[in-house]
This record gives sequence, C-alpha cells and structure tokens, in this order.
Amino acid sequence: MEETKVSVHKSRSEEINLKIVVVGGGAAGFFAAIAAKKTHPHACVILHERTNKVLSKVRISGGGRCNVTHACFDPKELVKNYPRGSKELLGPFHRFQPADTIQWFLEKGVELKTEEDGRMFPITDSSQTIIDCLLGEANRVGVQIRLQSKFSLNEFDADRLILATGSAKGGWEMAKNFGHTIQPPVPSLFTFNIPDFPLESVAGISLNNVRIELEGIRLFQEGPILITHWGFSGPAALKLSAFGARYLAEKDYNAGLCIDWLPKFSVDELISLLAVESPTKKLRTIRSIPLPKRLWNLLSSGENQLLSGMSKSTIRRLCEKLKADRYQVKGKTTNKEEFVTCGGVTLSEINFKTMESKLHPGLYFCGEILDIDGVTGGFNFQNAWTTGWISGTA
Ligand SMILES: Cc1cc2nc3c(=O)[nH]c(=O)nc-3n(C[C@H](O)[C@H](O)[C@H](O)COP(=O)(O)OP(=O)(O)OC[C@H]3O[C@@H](n4cnc5c(N)ncnc54)[C@H](O)[C@@H]3O)c2cc1C
Repeated sequence: MEETKVSVHKSRSEEINLKIVVVGGGAAGFFAAIAAKKTHPHACVILHERTNKVLSKVRISGGGRCNVTHACFDPKELVKNYPRGSKELLGPFHRFQPADTIQWFLEKGVELKTEEDGRMFPITDSSQTIIDCLLGEANRVGVQIRLQSKFSLNEFDADRLILATGSAKGGWEMAKNFGHTIQPPVPSLFTFNIPDFPLESVAGISLNNVRIELEGIRLFQEGPILITHWGFSGPAALKLSAFGARYLAEKDYNAGLCIDWLPKFSVDELISLLAVESPTKKLRTIRSIPLPKRLWNLLSSGENQLLSGMSKSTIRRLCEKLKADRYQVKGKTTNKEEFVTCGGVTLSEINFKTMESKLHPGLYFCGEILDIDGVTGGFNFQNAWTTGWISGTA
C-alpha cells in the first residue's frame, strides 16, 4: 500500500485554528460541511468539489424534482429499505431521520410534500429549490466552497477530513490509502431485460400488487410493477434488483424470474373464480380474474376459447401459470429516475456513532462512498443527509 503524506490530527485545543476539510460537493458533503460549521462556528470549513458545479446529482434526481426523503418515521421500518447498511443505520436513524430532514429544510423555508407512495419532494417540484437551500445555508454559515478543486491526499493538512466523494473511484482510492477496504462496486436499482419479451404488446400496463421472485436465491418483492417493451420495471422490480444486486452481478445478469400475477389468490381460488363464470363465455370476456383485460388475454392466450371447451386440467394449468409465470432475464437497463452503486468503504471499519474511521482517527465518511445503498424512493438521499449530519456534527 502506498504511504500517504497526509497528517490528520485527532484534536486541537484551539477551535479557532481547527481546519475541517470536506471532499465532495454532493448531498452528503454539503450536509457534513454545514453541520461541521454550525458545530464549530470558529473553525475553517472547506468543501472541495472537483467539477465546476456542486450538487449535480441533486439537480437530476427524481426526474428533476429531487425525491429528498421518504415519509417513513420509524427507524426500524426505515432500515428495511437498505439492502446494504440496514444494521449499521439503525443507530444513526435514531439521531437523524426523515422527520429531522423535513424539519431541517422547513427551518430554511423549504417545505416538502408527501406523494401517495411515501416519496417526499419539495412543494415546488423542482430540485433547484433544494440546491438553492443547501448553497444558501452553506454560504450563510460560512463554509468555503472550492470548485474545480480535485482533492488528493498529497501535501495537505487538516485536523479533520470528511470524505463524501460518492461512488467516485478516486474517493475509494483515498480510503484505501488510509488502510480501508472497499466492497467491489456493482450497480443497484435497475430494470430487468427479457429477450423476445412475450408481453411486449402490453407494454405500459402497470399492476399494483404483483409478487416477483428471483429464482436461485429465492429473493422476492411484492408491490407495483410496470411492464415495459423489454421486460419488467416499477418499484417491486427495482427493489428486487437492489436486494439481488450482488447475486445478479455474479450471474452476469442472467437469472430466472417468477411472477405471481395475483398473490392474494391461491390456485384453487382462481379456479373457483372461473367456475362461477358461464361456460358459454369466451375467455376474453371473463372479468372475474382481476387482471387488466389486455394482459389477461395475453396470459390466457385464448381470445375466442370457450370456457366450456376447456378441460379441468387446462383450467388448472392456466391458474398455475398466473401464480408462477416464468421469464429468463438477460441483462439490465439503468433506471433513469434514480440509480446508485452498491459497494464502497467496508462498514465494519466505521464507527456509526460519529462516522469516524476506526482505522484512522480524524477521518470521517458519509454518503454513497460507504457500502450503503437504499431502494428507490428517497432512501439514498436520506442516507446522505443522516451520515453527512452525523459526521459534520462529530
Ligand atoms: C439520475 C439519478 C437520480 C437520483 N435520484 C434520487 C432521488 O430522487 N432520491 C434519492 O434518494 N436518491 C437519488 N439518487 C441517488 C442519490 O443521488 C445519491 O445516493 C446521492 O447523490 C449520494 O450523495 P453523495 O453526496 O454521497 O455523492 P454524490 O452526490 O455523488 O457527490 C459526490 C461529489 O464528490 C465529488 N468528488 C468526487 N471525487 C472528488 C475529489 N477527489 N475531489 C473533489 N470532489 C470530488 C463529485 O464530483 C460529486 O460532486 C439518484 C441518482 C441518480 C444517478
């Protein structure tokens, strides 16, 4: 391992001389820098951003609306949304959770609203509101922002160093220089590609409650899915991709998917639903099976088939297919709304009370540089706010 010239001192008695360096002008870096300056008003807090713009991901997030957090206020429930980091985030969420995020922004004049599915956005529906707020607050408290300042470990001196470089390779290299290990990065939050997708003709249909299972590791999710031209998307599919991120990467995104289109019904209950229909009905006119008409026609593949012409075993086979419809995934597509990288600084090397390195006193980590990632819905920013706030305060 390369020896670094950095000197990160544990403490200085004179806060007035305290120099705190934050690397990375994203959500986590801003929260850390602001919290650090508020905790140590006389300290010199410098935030380095390698590009000429800060908060670029905030700008494009949530389709330009910025899904700031999620209306989930019980830390025990909240942590369930983190495929990696759930155990470690429990303590931090007792100290800074979505309710604190809402309050933090409200105190700066930014109101958030909750959508039906729990996602929270600024009432302006514009990520610019969040950027203006973070920039305004950083300037107000006196954080020094250095743009186009690609930070490296050569020739620098600070009392505290906070690394908030997101999924940038350079950030992980710096962490390695301090002796940290990095969990290999792989994508999370993507949609499933299915070659020659038999449901392509009904692309655009979304269903509220489907059970989608990844075969091989028996990982499943239940919730809304969207049928696309090339496969499956929507919240349940994205969640499954996050929890199965490592397995899917190992399998080079070749895996079996099993869809239960009607998880609330058993095979026998579906058979009973068909049994009450008049035998003279054609399959396509049947409405007792609660599926969108076009999807039902495709899955039952019997537009003009009369119910009376179907044997008991054919009916059973059809109902079994509705409960276990198999597809072969080959490849993935990036979700445009939100994507993250799973992997990063190994969590057992961090003290989650302070976000300080257990290996190198005075060194702190926050945000996506850590091996933490959430499912879609505002959980990734909540990780950035929480760990940013804790590291800055510490
Ligand atoms: C398209 C898209 C949409 C998203 N939408 C949402 C959403 O709506 N809700 C949600 O919760 N999450 C969303 N996410 C995920 C979320 O954006 C990230 O989890 C979050 O931005 C991570 O914040 P961060 O501060 O840790 O890292 P980043 O935002 O990546 O910030 C890191 C910063 O560090 C800088 N940097 C790196 N190396 C150096 C260096 N050596 N010196 C100086 N600067 C450096 C980078 O340029 C960057 O600005 C989205 C992600 C994407 C890609």
